[in-house]
Amino acid sequence: MKILVINCGSSSLKFQLIDSDTEKCLAKGLCERIGIEGSMITYAPEGGEKEKTQTPMPDHTEAIRLVLEALTNPKTGVVGSLEEIQAVGHRVVHGGEKFAESVVIDDKVLKAVEECNDLAPLHNPANLIGIDACRKLMPETPMVAVFDTAFHQTMPEEAYLYGIPYDYYRNYKIRRYGFHGTSHSYVSKKAAETLGKRYEDLKIIVCHLGNGASVSAVKNGRCVDTSMGLTPLEGLIMGTRSGDIDPAIVEFLAKKEHKSLEEIMTVLNRQSGVLGLSENLSSDFRDLEAGYHSGNEGAVRAMKTFSYRVAKYIGAYTAAMNGVDVICFTAGVGENAPLVRSFVCEYLGYLGVALDPEANNKRGEDIVISTPDSATTVMVIPTNEELAIARETVRLVQP
Ligand code: AMP
Repeated sequence: MKILVINCGSSSLKFQLIDSDTEKCLAKGLCERIGIEGSMITYAPEGGEKEKTQTPMPDHTEAIRLVLEALTNPKTGVVGSLEEIQAVGHRVVHGGEKFAESVVIDDKVLKAVEECNDLAPLHNPANLIGIDACRKLMPETPMVAVFDTAFHQTMPEEAYLYGIPYDYYRNYKIRRYGFHGTSHSYVSKKAAETLGKRYEDLKIIVCHLGNGASVSAVKNGRCVDTSMGLTPLEGLIMGTRSGDIDPAIVEFLAKKEHKSLEEIMTVLNRQSGVLGLSENLSSDFRDLEAGYHSGNEGAVRAMKTFSYRVAKYIGAYTAAMNGVDVICFTAGVGENAPLVRSFVCEYLGYLGVALDPEANNKRGEDIVISTPDSATTVMVIPTNEELAIARETVRLVQP
């Protein structure tokens, strides 16, 4: 089957066309600045030239129309007609407690997703706009919603509740949800498969370290804890997000800096993390790694603090699962930054972790990076959220 995977943001839209039989990506691309002047579509057929075209995109319907036009273009397209695209998989950020699994989209589902909008006001409305635009242009094509939060819905109450009055959970559903679920699920399954072990027999910790970053504990094939919370702001120190802080800092900072709540949230979401720790050197670990090697104080501070927080979560999740068999690193930093992986693993001597420095220096491969006698296996598993969405879509639409 040919599956179109759509990841729609408020002004951008990423897409991939995946052949689910070969699991190969046939074409991919990105629409940027939707609804803003200077809209641009980037399209790259597999093995072909990447092309960038500046063209007006007043709304998401026009963006998706251009995507479909690119995919069916007689010269550079990869399908003869739209009928060849048998289903569409949409990434949806927040499914609240309503969705513990992916679902085939119908009007009832859309209403339920809309009801989760206030849990993810920046993301869910954009996801819904993308679904709506796609349904207009491909009314006969089945569509599936794959939720970032779904994999974490197996967390037990003691892991997802905050220590605040229970009424806030009852009335407003304030609890920990977790994100990057598609990645945590894909990577943990792939780890078991690569090791030739049963997924249900393993205790796995997945460190998804990208610009956004989260850790999850997957015990016997079910997520039992994850570091992001009601929103993606909780947990690890990230590119620009603070991760865990003392909530009293919000009031303290508001008074000291005469900032509104909104301004404080902007600081915590956009000006913190390794960017803030490195005194604005960069949120990108390529720059931080370069800075570290040239002795930049901010880069050293950011890398060390980031890695320490990851190691602390690994410790917490080892406790939560009463042990750990496999630790996986994934996403932009997890796959490509050997230095971060080695800093994290330096804290894991108590788990008998022994890194193989040569294997750890390989970038972006599906590989075991611990030595054969390491008591806990450490791996790098490149994530592939689009493929995971395509798989889910096929699973639900195949007769
Ligand atoms: P993601 O959010 O998973 O796309 O990850 C993006 C982040 O991965 C970037 O902001 C970088 O910090 C990091 N990254 C990507 N490539 C490399 C690399 N070769 N070395 C170190 N970090 C990298």
